[in-house]
Amino acid sequence: MAKDKGITVKKDEDMPEWYSQVILKSELADYSPVKGCLVMRPYSYAIWQKLMDFFNELIFSVGVENAYFPMFIPESLFAKESEHAKGFAPEVAWVEKKEEHEERLALRPTSETIMYDSYAKWIRSYRDLPLIINLWCNIIRWEVKDVKPFLRSREFLWQEGHCVYETQEELHKETLQYLEFYRQVAEDLLAVPVIKGEKTEKERFAGADNTYTIESFMPDGKALQMGTSHDLSQGFAKSFNIEYLGRDEKFHAPWQNSWGISTRMIGAMVMMHGDDKGLVLPPKAAPIPVVIVPIIFEDTKKKVLAKAKEIQKATKGKLDDRDHYSAGWKFNQWEMKGVPIRIEIGPKDVEKDQCMLVRRDTGEKVPVALKDIKKTVSDTLETMQKDMLDKARKKMESMIDSSDNWEDFQKKTKDKMVRVKFCGEPECEENIKAETGGVTSRCQPLEGADPTGKCFKCGKEAKMDMYFSRNY
Ligand SMILES: [Zn+2]
Repeated sequence: MAKDKGITVKKDEDMPEWYSQVILKSELADYSPVKGCLVMRPYSYAIWQKLMDFFNELIFSVGVENAYFPMFIPESLFAKESEHAKGFAPEVAWVEKKEEHEERLALRPTSETIMYDSYAKWIRSYRDLPLIINLWCNIIRWEVKDVKPFLRSREFLWQEGHCVYETQEELHKETLQYLEFYRQVAEDLLAVPVIKGEKTEKERFAGADNTYTIESFMPDGKALQMGTSHDLSQGFAKSFNIEYLGRDEKFHAPWQNSWGISTRMIGAMVMMHGDDKGLVLPPKAAPIPVVIVPIIFEDTKKKVLAKAKEIQKATKGKLDDRDHYSAGWKFNQWEMKGVPIRIEIGPKDVEKDQCMLVRRDTGEKVPVALKDIKKTVSDTLETMQKDMLDKARKKMESMIDSSDNWEDFQKKTKDKMVRVKFCGEPECEENIKAETGGVTSRCQPLEGADPTGKCFKCGKEAKMDMYFSRNY
């Protein structure tokens, strides 16, 4: 942020402008010369790295292995599953062929087709199952409107997992298990509360029998889809001739799922927790959880720095002893970058064998005896992680409502997420979207859904208990 002042707009007055200023001034990301493509600066990549570590630990615990596949997909492979090809067609960027005998190559918008071509070669018998592979890679979705850093861009980073199973029961159980892992990433790492649910037919992944989702609701009244897990049933297996010799000595089509989360998670975290001073990072996701800022005067410099170094050692924090910036300037910078705990120590504190501890989320400032600093910091980080999730959950719950009639629904969905009884018909859903100018179905909650009653819009028999809202 160099010489720039802080953020010049208030979050609740102009969220889009607030968001882009926070992203740039906290040095998370920068724009690039390529339209719709983002530069992830080291600060956001460090958060992504933490997310990768957290998620890898979860998936390794159930036997997932990471691999890599090419980003180019020959057109003939891409077109093999017709629903999938149709669904993604508008978003695909192509590399045109150089020679007559060659094929056009799609830049992967997702990797099902390139991976399942290999899966067809690798899977021979039930002994090869389950096959469970995850990719950390980049993705291209060329036709992106309304580009927004981390939330929507032409190229982004994600992970995509692709599993093959012997039975449908195993498929169903594991598809939900990966959704649960996503909930843990969102809530336990990023402190962003989510609803686990099931998509309508219209909002499903192209080629899937069912799509499960975690949805969060942002403070500006729009939902954000944070991660999805797709039940692909046997459709891709049949299109790609994936077969295995079963325990009964006969050939069968296996059952498949795919699941993904992306750098969009970072955007959700920024929007959910940030304030008028900048980012507010939950401790577990913060590249720098603790910063120590000594208050330097020439005559006491040595004493203060010595104590600051002791604190640094005890807390494993970052010591900001740059002497060409004032303490006040440093406070602003670390607040902008959302560092969870700031420790200040000046000559008067040294005399009292204490330091000042400041929480970024609440601004609360308390003196702490130097002998207690290690424990106090670790306890505060833990409390803060929990408090941030609780606060966000309360905020989200206050923005969720229900409705049983069309007029009321139209009013409430201006800035709320609204739960209704819904018929599930794609045509009814299309009408809702068109007549409201963009309200879409988000999900039917996995827990506590009660689909009995009449559709709030068309009056037909309801088949779902559905959340609707505007969305990113
Ligand atoms: Zn209806």
